[in-house]
Amino acid sequence: MQRETEHKTICSYCGVGCGIKVKVDAKGTIGVEGDEDYPVNKGMLCSKGKNLNYVAQDTTDRILYPQMRWSRNHPMQSVSWDTAFDRAAAVFKSIINKHGPDSVGFYVSGQCLTEEYYLVNKLTKGFIGTNNIDTNSRLCMSSAVVGYKKMLGEDSVPISYADIELADCFLIAGANPAWCHPILFRRIEKHKEENPDVKIIVVDPRKTQTCALADLHLQILPGTDVILFNAMARWLIEKKKIDRKFIKQHTVNFEACRESAFQLSLRKAAELCGITVEEIRTAASYIGNAKAFISMWTMGLNQSVIGVSKNLALLNLSLLTGQIGKPGAGPFSLTGQPNAMGGREVGGMASLLAAHRDLGNSNHRKEVSNFWGGKEISGEAGYTATEMFDALESGKMKAIWIICTNPIVSLPNVHKVEKALENASFVVVQDISHNAETTKYADLLLPAAAWLEKEGTMTNSERRISYLPKAIDPPGEAMADVEILWRFAQKMGYKGFDYSSASEVYDEHCLLTKGTNIDISGLSYERLQNEGSFQWPVPHKEHMGTPRLFTDLKFFTNDEKSHFNAPPKLYNQSEKTDGRYPLILNTGRVRDQWHTRTKTGKVKRLLTHIPEPYLEMNKVDAYIRGLKEGDVAMVKSRRGEVKVKVKVNYDIREQVVFLPMHWGKVLNNDFGRANNVTNDLVDPISKEPDFKYCAVQVTKYVKP
Ligand code: SF4
Repeated sequence: MQRETEHKTICSYCGVGCGIKVKVDAKGTIGVEGDEDYPVNKGMLCSKGKNLNYVAQDTTDRILYPQMRWSRNHPMQSVSWDTAFDRAAAVFKSIINKHGPDSVGFYVSGQCLTEEYYLVNKLTKGFIGTNNIDTNSRLCMSSAVVGYKKMLGEDSVPISYADIELADCFLIAGANPAWCHPILFRRIEKHKEENPDVKIIVVDPRKTQTCALADLHLQILPGTDVILFNAMARWLIEKKKIDRKFIKQHTVNFEACRESAFQLSLRKAAELCGITVEEIRTAASYIGNAKAFISMWTMGLNQSVIGVSKNLALLNLSLLTGQIGKPGAGPFSLTGQPNAMGGREVGGMASLLAAHRDLGNSNHRKEVSNFWGGKEISGEAGYTATEMFDALESGKMKAIWIICTNPIVSLPNVHKVEKALENASFVVVQDISHNAETTKYADLLLPAAAWLEKEGTMTNSERRISYLPKAIDPPGEAMADVEILWRFAQKMGYKGFDYSSASEVYDEHCLLTKGTNIDISGLSYERLQNEGSFQWPVPHKEHMGTPRLFTDLKFFTNDEKSHFNAPPKLYNQSEKTDGRYPLILNTGRVRDQWHTRTKTGKVKRLLTHIPEPYLEMNKVDAYIRGLKEGDVAMVKSRRGEVKVKVKVNYDIREQVVFLPMHWGKVLNNDFGRANNVTNDLVDPISKEPDFKYCAVQVTKYVKP
């Protein structure tokens, strides 16, 4: 009988990054509770976090042994790890020799630990010789990364959760933290309860649970966010509610912001946004009169063909009012996934370089390739998430290695993704369990260790780095992802992958950050285990971390000023509505499900909230179509169709419908899979897809 053990770790779901105490009893039963000492959640957990013990203990559908097939006509068979690595290396070498390094790619996840992210990035960019390494974080926050870089010189969230309790005005745009970042929302809620004068503005085409806390809900038409933020900027400038001293001393390009803001009158802006001038004035006055203003946003702004423009227009509001670098103030992009930030730090995207270095800078590339001792790194961005699957479909890419993500549910326009994987010569899927969608395309299936079964680090939305210990052994022959990667690299014959622990990988990553703006060379597993979490930068061993950036008002740009940017686009016109497709579809999350439900879908308790997919639609739109609550509707776009039950209310605007993104194949058909119909157009700069704007028709489904 094993002895009882207790561990402190971090929730594996959202970017809030709550601390969890895990107890494993003598029988191996796992218990979880919120960590009262952890500064993020102070003991609180949301419904998903509270039920993590069920997920950790459930071995149904776990991939227990490496499996492979010799061709698509052959069945999968269990093989040894050696055989699996031999096959993977042989196929990758053969494809690279014949078609060049850009014919292969890795598609990973914001749920990967930093060490895994670091290693796959090193392997791909530094040794295989391609920048084709991208992540499902591309689908969440790449527009925010571009916005921060343009404004601050680097992808840097300036503030901390602790600033929430110091702010007196919040603008929550394109986000529903009440459901998607619940513990963070609980902190805002408590702050508002204790300080009723705190103003909260919510911008969303839907009336979500977050609106329950709002002083003002701006229920704008989809895709009009830039017009709204520009109108607020215009009001602030006209009413002289801007911080002239800050603008003069610490910013550049104010005129470009002003010019953009003055393109439309407030009246015209209100008309285009579908709200009143008074609402715009009220919102702008809350911001203009605030002592400490925080903006928060997620997918509603980022997932758009104008995602970068939306970010820039929002960020301009913080600069106009000088609300950055001081307590309770700053633009705060909320990350969706638990380690999307860690992935950004190691440069784990096709357009990024390790430690926030610039892929386009030849000196930076040389620094990294010299450090790794591998190949010269190309300055050209690799294929991004959607581009990677386009390249597989067209035959430009031959092999893909998918780690911890389920693109057959999560990518837009999924029928294209299905074709891409059918067309690929070789598909490796490395994951913890079988799913109904992506794993069936695998030619090689690699069993990965899950949460609690491996050690590593993650960084949450506020730059807080935490250590996650190994608490239990993985089932079967499942292996830590980081080891799978280094053993594959060794089989490929690459030098510099002779690690024996995750901590060695972490030390190397920390060393590579030395001298950069995200310097964490003062960190080690030992410090994280003994002293707790740290917010980067942590540039030396006595340094205690950095809760707030830019307190000296010197930014990461070359001129140390923050930069106003005129948003290049005013509103989303990616897909026109017409008589055939008259409604705009918006997609998003529900409270108790996570991503494609590969984990939360197995927890009965989490199914009591919302057990099945639904199409939310305004009662008027439903009535016109003869639909009532519970009817099955057929949703069609120019790309595909999906059947789903209807939920009718007045919480969503007329001519806008909403479909959660979580459900894949239900009962072996496409019931409720939102991405059958979504658009795979992307923002031209961030390459983030347009999940929030897709023209559809909705009709009552009639059985053939
Ligand atoms: Fe986990 Fe996010 Fe819930 Fe915290 S808020 S318990 S990190 S899902």
